[in-house]
Amino acid sequence: MAKTTPSSVLQQSVSLLHGVGPAVQSRLQKLGIESIEDVLFQLPARYEDRRVVKKIAELRGGEREIFSGEILAAGEATTRSSRRKLFEVIVSDGSSQILLKWFQYKTVWMKKRFAVGRKAFFVAEVKRFGSQREAHHPEVEFIKENSVIEDACLENSLSIGTILPVYPLTEGLHQKTAQKIWRDAVSRFADDLQSHIPEEIQSKRGLMTTAAAVQAVHNPAADSRIDLLQAGRNPARLALVYDEFFFLALGMAMKRRGVVIAPGIPFKLDHQFTKPLAALLPYKLTNAQRRVLGEIKRDVMSPHPMNRLIQGDVGSGKTIVALMAALIAIENCCQVAIVAPTEILAEQHFTEFNFYLGQLGLKAILLSGSLPPAEKKTAYERIASGEIDLVVGTHAVLQQCVIFHRLGLGIVDEQHRFGVKQRAVLKQKGENPHLLVMTATPIPRTLALTLYGDLSLSVIDELPPGRQTVQTTTVTENRRADVYSAVRHELMAGRQAYIVYPLVDESEKSDLQAATVGAQQLKTEFPDYRVGLLHGRMSAEQKDAEMKAFKAGLIQILVSTTVIEVGIDVPNATLIVIEHAERFGLAQLHQLRGRVGRGEGKSRCFLIRSKQISDDGLKRLQVMTETNDGFRIAEADLEIRGPGDFIGTRQAGLPEFRVANLLRDARILDDAHEDAFELANSPGFLTAPEYEDVRQELKRRWGGRLELVNSG
Ligand code: ADP
Ligand code: MG
Repeated sequence: MAKTTPSSVLQQSVSLLHGVGPAVQSRLQKLGIESIEDVLFQLPARYEDRRVVKKIAELRGGEREIFSGEILAAGEATTRSSRRKLFEVIVSDGSSQILLKWFQYKTVWMKKRFAVGRKAFFVAEVKRFGSQREAHHPEVEFIKENSVIEDACLENSLSIGTILPVYPLTEGLHQKTAQKIWRDAVSRFADDLQSHIPEEIQSKRGLMTTAAAVQAVHNPAADSRIDLLQAGRNPARLALVYDEFFFLALGMAMKRRGVVIAPGIPFKLDHQFTKPLAALLPYKLTNAQRRVLGEIKRDVMSPHPMNRLIQGDVGSGKTIVALMAALIAIENCCQVAIVAPTEILAEQHFTEFNFYLGQLGLKAILLSGSLPPAEKKTAYERIASGEIDLVVGTHAVLQQCVIFHRLGLGIVDEQHRFGVKQRAVLKQKGENPHLLVMTATPIPRTLALTLYGDLSLSVIDELPPGRQTVQTTTVTENRRADVYSAVRHELMAGRQAYIVYPLVDESEKSDLQAATVGAQQLKTEFPDYRVGLLHGRMSAEQKDAEMKAFKAGLIQILVSTTVIEVGIDVPNATLIVIEHAERFGLAQLHQLRGRVGRGEGKSRCFLIRSKQISDDGLKRLQVMTETNDGFRIAEADLEIRGPGDFIGTRQAGLPEFRVANLLRDARILDDAHEDAFELANSPGFLTAPEYEDVRQELKRRWGGRLELVNSG
């Protein structure tokens, strides 16, 4: 249903642009650039200030500088030391001379180009040896014969005298080619871009139009402030950021409108089960847990369904809050469904919930994909009849054949692993049941409000008492023996340890082998202890047995791939070793480390890294050793990775950002959030003709992910 919208011109292929043949096209594709619009919204990675042309005598070196001059001499030479051939050019501008060197060149071509007497601009990082100046492989722009240098730049040069955009590249795509392509796209198509933000908001926030903003980010005016440009705080970029946030927030506001009006199942609190549970728990709830529970109670007692997100760092105790909420639902003669992303986690939740529910005379069941068909069938029947109070499971719970007698509360654990869709499916299994989703992904509050605009937010910002930070150490592979002696020390004290190997690609057998081989070696290394192995290819029963044995303390060392990443809770495990730590992302490392430090024992984490490691890899490990704070880690993650898909916008079914950076631009998000929610809640927004364009654009950005209903 390709509609002819004014933007269709911009949807055309990049192959229409000058300089884009099939080869360049496929390279652009690697950068995610397919249409002309994609080109326009791919902003420069940075800028190069070419406004100031220096005298040769003023060149200081240490950064790229621009100078001009006349060629005094040129020719081939041989280095004294290695007798390598090189091409040398001497340039003078009257103030001083500089020696230019090329080590790769075609002699004939060079001789022709660098004829004595020609004038040119040069861009290079200059080296200084005393009073001598030298530059290797400078960028050269020749100046037309007979022209005065000062005028020449304005007439002939595309870059000298300007602030030059520098684009992100991929192999085989040269900066000059990229600049040419972008220049062409901007000059021919930027004017076609339309602004869709309502005028009153545009003028209130002083926003540039989209066309002007796109022009200005790619082609900054010569009097622009370079510091703002480099920091991404130039008005043009900020206008584009605002635009993205505005439509994100507007869509979220619409979703929220849709949610609030539905009638729910108002619960009553009679404490029939919650009170006895509190007595069964071996600990008291923290203040944060109690506060969040209070927020949940308020929600479920209201006439509308609850839609609440609990955010709490790993180990903050989200599970027990969920259990309390579940009991309130059961007190109201409703069933509860809990969905977890992995079988191991579902199994663990089931064990814990069943332990308490059993003592309260209630019935829980575990639904996993690997259940034999006959058992599945009985399970379905018991759920449909209402005999079962609480169902725990993986995606299996979401299947069509699972029909509830009366679902009153749906709980989604580790929300970041699921999308909006799964949430919707779960909701449809009852008549507007209450919904509770839990995540350990820490995100700033406004951001959470916007991203999960249809959810209310509760934060568990306190860890249970007695928790100590996990002391974290990074070591290189050759120091593994030291790590093992630390492991031995823990085991002798009766504690347990995890050893984790990366699983880069699930289809790759070699990684699995790493864990299997690792387990074998550890058995030799620790003959007096039992070593278990856990990986994604084991059957559910095998995994289950291994996990149970580890929990019961029958196994002291659990070797594993990342299947233990989310949620596993064994408080007696106090040490975790992560092999090839550089291969993991920060969020993953934080989750893995969260497996220890769950009891009273002092806990440690060893990150074993290869000698060969990227700068980003090193930075990640450094962050891990510096802090245990999930929020700081998330911030660092964003800084290192850039905006990327940090909160899983794609998975969450949200429009993707092309320009905005969720953390860096948090202030703009505040503004856009305020404006969008105000507009969405104004009475005429869904009907007034003057907002037709805004509504159309909103639909377009959100694709099929947003239903605009006029609910009055
Ligand atoms: P997460 O928020 O990561 O899901 P869990 O719910 O798995 O964390 O809780 C982590 C551990 O803390 C569990 O062993 C749990 O029993 C324990 N715990 C939870 N709440 C408290 C509390 N108030 N006091 C002491 N321990 C607690
Ligand atoms: Mg958890």
